[in-house]
Amino acid sequence: MKTVSLVGSTGSIGTQAVDVIDRQPDQYQVIAIGAARSVDVLVAQAMALRPRVVAIAEVTRAGELRRRLPATIEVVAGPAALADIAREADVVVNGVVGFAGLPVTLAALESGRRLALANKESLIAAGPVVQRVRSTPGAEIVPVDSEHCAVHQCLRAAGPPPAAGEAPAFVRRIVLTASGGPFRGRRADDLASVSVADALNHPTWQMGPKITVDSSTLMNKGLEVIEAYELFHVGYDRIEVVVHPQSIIHSMVETVDGATMAQLSMPDMRLPIGYALAYPERSPTAFGAIDWTTLARLEFEQPDRAAFPCLDLAYDAGRAGGTATATLNGANEVAVDAFLKGQIRWTDIASVIHTVLAGHDVSVPDSVDDVLDADRAGRARANEAVDRCRRAIVA
Ligand code: MG
Repeated sequence: MKTVSLVGSTGSIGTQAVDVIDRQPDQYQVIAIGAARSVDVLVAQAMALRPRVVAIAEVTRAGELRRRLPATIEVVAGPAALADIAREADVVVNGVVGFAGLPVTLAALESGRRLALANKESLIAAGPVVQRVRSTPGAEIVPVDSEHCAVHQCLRAAGPPPAAGEAPAFVRRIVLTASGGPFRGRRADDLASVSVADALNHPTWQMGPKITVDSSTLMNKGLEVIEAYELFHVGYDRIEVVVHPQSIIHSMVETVDGATMAQLSMPDMRLPIGYALAYPERSPTAFGAIDWTTLARLEFEQPDRAAFPCLDLAYDAGRAGGTATATLNGANEVAVDAFLKGQIRWTDIASVIHTVLAGHDVSVPDSVDDVLDADRAGRARANEAVDRCRRAIVA
């Protein structure tokens, strides 16, 4: 039986991971769960899963959590609590949303754990820092992001595993698929007035609000390009994006002999979660298997880079490297948050990020502190740009 630590257990990935584990109770023992602040969900999960430890990042809620849980379950609280529960299990699931997931990623890898990584921001913001701890004996990343999980599976099918830190020599290119989001087919001049509800109305995936907005701007795909670069060490010129509205092909690997490997399944995050939990075995429980009697067509188109400038902003930041990706990520989180609060327009998200990146001097981060500095600076400049947009809207 494998032990599992579920970090970010109350979010979209976390609750689906609980569902996967519930269906194979003889395979996994959850020894720790943790979340930022959702006491009610944590209590319900703890009573069902009976972990040894429950972590909550927000200290002010720890007292209530302790009162509502049996004394046999230890409660840890505070900013470091989520990283603390990422050091022990056979598999650590990082489903934390946003930059807050970085300490969890680092703790799991430094402790030589297998990391089922749904938190793309930690790789994107802190690539050089994360790369260093990936060489810890036992440490391994199995991506839970559906596209990267697909690439991971395609690479295994395509050829022998490469040396650590190197690109597989047989890869010509990685092709990441994008659903295109709710605004696929809309032109640039037609997108200024879209609402928060429009942006949250994703055609194929049920996800949390931040990633759903990222999907509507194609920033999610841009961040995934950077994530693919960090995970698989394939250069940006060999990572491409194709829009595939059905979200059945989750990504592809083309090999040097002209063959293309693809992973297909219905859109269901429980498949990549089950894959990462079971790896290197295969999960005996199926999620997202295709019914070929109802699946009629698979379509592909090129992304509209003028209507969705966030995609190229991400490529630019990825190619600039160093602290540029942390700055991009921080600025995007601020801009998306402001959009969700109704403070800026959807089209302002890209202009805020563009402004921040244009004023950023790239350096190479040596430590988490360097990444934090780049993140903070990106956020501060993004907040200034958001304020200018708000004043423009009011005027
Ligand atoms: Mg994805």
